[in-house]
Amino acid sequence: MKTIVWDIDDVLNDLTKSWFENIWLLSNPGCRLSYQNLTSNPPNELLNLQKEDYFKLLDEYRNSDKARNMKPDKKVIKWFEKYGENFRHIALTARPTHTVAAAAEWVLCYFGKWIRTVSFIPSARPKIYMPSYDKDKIKYLKWFGKADFFIDDKTDDIKGAKTLGIQSYLVPQPWNKGTLPLPEILSLLIKNE
Ligand SMILES: [Mg+2]
Repeated sequence: MKTIVWDIDDVLNDLTKSWFENIWLLSNPGCRLSYQNLTSNPPNELLNLQKEDYFKLLDEYRNSDKARNMKPDKKVIKWFEKYGENFRHIALTARPTHTVAAAAEWVLCYFGKWIRTVSFIPSARPKIYMPSYDKDKIKYLKWFGKADFFIDDKTDDIKGAKTLGIQSYLVPQPWNKGTLPLPEILSLLIKNE
């Protein structure tokens, strides 16, 4: 049975869109950007924010009730209901550690029938020391050694996973050049099962 490694933010959930539309646009009514204009991630320069200030806002949102109540894409849930049990699944997120519990709870709540493992790479934040096992997702995947598929929205991580021989799919977001919409990626997973 093959193993799929899923990114959480902006793949299984719509964190950045949800934050941008529910928080940023409401508190910055003069902002003329739409979600599609967020062509870099982090988008702090587009929003005239220092990186630290952007991450502070995003991390607060990650732990908020609104983020905990994000709904997963119905098409993805349907796919899991139909095909989920044909694969093993791991969620792999890069987040600051103090926001991981909320993400793990969210994943296990909606996808816990199938995703039995939630792993993370601690994102660096000021004044917080974390022991370092794997500095990024690629180092983690190399250590883990069992991933057959990797699904993420970060171009560099997709490139890195491919160098390990993992079949990797870039989920389209405004900040990447992904061309295969998630439903098509899901169909390919079944074909390559
Ligand atoms: Mg992501």
